[in-house]
Amino acid sequence: MPESPLPPGSTIGILGGGQLGRMLAVAASQLGLRSHIYSDEAATPAFDVAAARTVGSYADMDALTRFAGTVDVVTCEFENVPAETLEAAARVVPVFPPVRSFAVAQDRLIEKDFLTSLGVQVAPYAPVDTLEDLRAALARIKPPVLLKTRRFGYDGKGQISIRAADDAAAALEAIGQVPALLEGLVRFEREVSVIVVRGQDGELQFYDAVENVHENGILAISRAPARISLSAGVAAKTIAGKIAEALSHVGVLCVEMFERTGERPELIVNEIAPRVHNSGHWTLDACLVSQFENHVRAICGWPLGDTARHSDALMTNLIGADAEKWRALASEAGTSVHLYGKTEARPGRKMGHVTRLFPKS
Ligand code: AMP
Repeated sequence: MPESPLPPGSTIGILGGGQLGRMLAVAASQLGLRSHIYSDEAATPAFDVAAARTVGSYADMDALTRFAGTVDVVTCEFENVPAETLEAAARVVPVFPPVRSFAVAQDRLIEKDFLTSLGVQVAPYAPVDTLEDLRAALARIKPPVLLKTRRFGYDGKGQISIRAADDAAAALEAIGQVPALLEGLVRFEREVSVIVVRGQDGELQFYDAVENVHENGILAISRAPARISLSAGVAAKTIAGKIAEALSHVGVLCVEMFERTGERPELIVNEIAPRVHNSGHWTLDACLVSQFENHVRAICGWPLGDTARHSDALMTNLIGADAEKWRALASEAGTSVHLYGKTEARPGRKMGHVTRLFPKS
């Protein structure tokens, strides 16, 4: 077994080469650690900032075993990594977060059942494998509702709304007749998320809850802190901590929730992500220690860093052609520009983000 904590000079292996891997590798370098990125794409953002790169399939167990042999710990920057990929790496070196965190987050039904077992509130849901299941579920959970694929959904992909029971067959067809979940539509006041980090010794640290605005299913803006009551902020962190503990998670975990206000405010968990998250990018500029550095610290067995917010922040994603405004953004006061080094600005593609800082409220 490698030393714990891993000393500076050690190498972390990162499965996935997107912007999250890139920001993890930069954070690792700040702590004197090296990164080896494994990606199935030859040109990918994290390769630009890594000490070592491997291009290989996530199904190539020999290549993964060789990769794991060159690093001291393995982590992952995307959610849908196959369990066998993580297990292949785990036979050679420690893998954090644990495989279970991914297994739960990858399947919306397993995720909802798990959250329910913890007493965490979720939207009404029902598993759907066939048209008969869907019709029965629609009799219980009345439209408007959402039909979501159990697996491989992200950024609003793999889901369709059903406005009337008659649309059942067309909706199942539209998502590709795959195992799915019917979900009641939550009439929320706002969407919030909490980033929690859990160390190897069980230490928990939290970033302040943020408020998220999605456009076309993709995160557009995160506002830190969220405009929620003190008690809702505490409740959101309590939920996130409970989930991280129940998973024996190590590293960063993001919990996305809906806030429903009223006589008795409620937090309804939408989903969890067992990784650094877009709604935590503001921590790079508004906190002493970012979500990326804290994830690296956790997986390397280091003490966790200070998550306190020193400024309020507004993070805006640069999607597709938005990144062409980089010159104007770079000349704005109080604004930090982050570009991911992607050459092709396809519509809907996350090209970078900007964070605007304001005095702490
Ligand atoms: P998801 O793919 O589950 O993250 O959903 C993407 C976005 O769709 C969420 O951030 C919400 O804005 C919206 N959404 C998803 N599920 C629900 C729901 N049950 N009720 C209302 N809005 C939802």
